[in-house]
Amino acid sequence: MRTMLAGHTARTETDFDSIAATALARCDMLAKCSDEPGQITRTFLSPAMERCNRLVQEWMRSAGMITSFDRVGNLRGYYAASSEDALRLIIGSHLDTVPNAGRYDGVLGVMLGIGLVEALAGRRCGFGIDVIGFSDEEGVRYGLPFIGSRAATGTLLAPHLARRDADGIAMYAALDAFQNAYPDVVDAGLDPRARAYLEFHIEQGPVLEHAGLALGVVETIAGQSRATVAFRGRAGHAGTTPMFLRRDALAAAAEWLTAVESAASSMPGLVATTGRISCEPDAANVIPGLVRCSLDVRHADDAIRRAAVEDFLRTADAIGNRREIEVERVVEYEQAAVRLDRTLVALADQVVSEVGVSPRHMTSGAGHDAMIMAACVPSVMFFLRSPGGISHHPDEAVYAEDVAMALRAGIRFLERFEAHLDQLSESERKSCTT
Ligand SMILES: [Zn+2]
Repeated sequence: MRTMLAGHTARTETDFDSIAATALARCDMLAKCSDEPGQITRTFLSPAMERCNRLVQEWMRSAGMITSFDRVGNLRGYYAASSEDALRLIIGSHLDTVPNAGRYDGVLGVMLGIGLVEALAGRRCGFGIDVIGFSDEEGVRYGLPFIGSRAATGTLLAPHLARRDADGIAMYAALDAFQNAYPDVVDAGLDPRARAYLEFHIEQGPVLEHAGLALGVVETIAGQSRATVAFRGRAGHAGTTPMFLRRDALAAAAEWLTAVESAASSMPGLVATTGRISCEPDAANVIPGLVRCSLDVRHADDAIRRAAVEDFLRTADAIGNRREIEVERVVEYEQAAVRLDRTLVALADQVVSEVGVSPRHMTSGAGHDAMIMAACVPSVMFFLRSPGGISHHPDEAVYAEDVAMALRAGIRFLERFEAHLDQLSESERKSCTT
């Protein structure tokens, strides 16, 4: 097998620092591409997304990549290998944002993909590199996340395409308009030569900062359950109903919430959240009659997550029985945990160690494109420390030194990746290409 990067000279620290500075300056420029003035909001196939794509396309081209848009608006930049029919590594993340977002979520991962190609400085690897900027991950416009990676993996289905946005525009109609404007779109499916997926992403949480680490290696993307629990008691006069004759739905819900918090705190790695609560009749002088609580539970181990959800729901029943409150509960959504590829996780550990960061395996509590891509190609993710753990917020930040560190680790990943291609054999790969 050809040795990759043969004869290259060791890069200086300054190279990575300046490429990191460029990547960050580009994040600043993309932050100006917004559907809402004064904030960063960039949704699927919006005018702001088009302006963003034009800039990213220009940077990809000047880094030596051949660019194209696929049918769902994913922007692809291909950096050719040393031989024509070589296998490919995909480096990707998303270019859309939540409303009033920060400037690094998703975007930084794409800028790091381009930065790594720039760090190669024209040298060719034994594999091609596809940098993909996914057109939608956050799901803001259609209430459906991962449109870009779903399309890439063949899981964007007819019912998804029939969804309508807030203006009543169906997804298929939006895609038709896009494809009319970009008649040379390519198929959204993965190239049959794609062998692995690599994603850099800000952590969006406080774990790495707490541990004093610049980078982390994601081992698992947590599974998730969402449920609604309703407590139905009896509304009554706040002044005339003695305490012992009340069936207060909110008091029951409050007891349940603290029980869930305490049970989740005692289970390592488990997170449970009630983020939405409604109370009827919602008046200061009326005993609450009906309270609905959302429940979001996540863990790396599906069995632990399911058992925890069952336990939380049983606790609600027990509290309801004791307080003569009717409990209705519905589990609305379940997403299994996704384990990232062991070979690539080991490789990521190795390169992180080589740049002087002690390898830390992490469970991502948030969903990412890697979760979708992992169904088709061996996938791995690096997290970059999030100062203050802040994300989905204009104060989202990243340290320039961490970005340079990610580039150092990334270039080592590229240098070692070819030797692992044999292990990521065709047979391991699920058939997701169209
Ligand atoms: Zn993201």
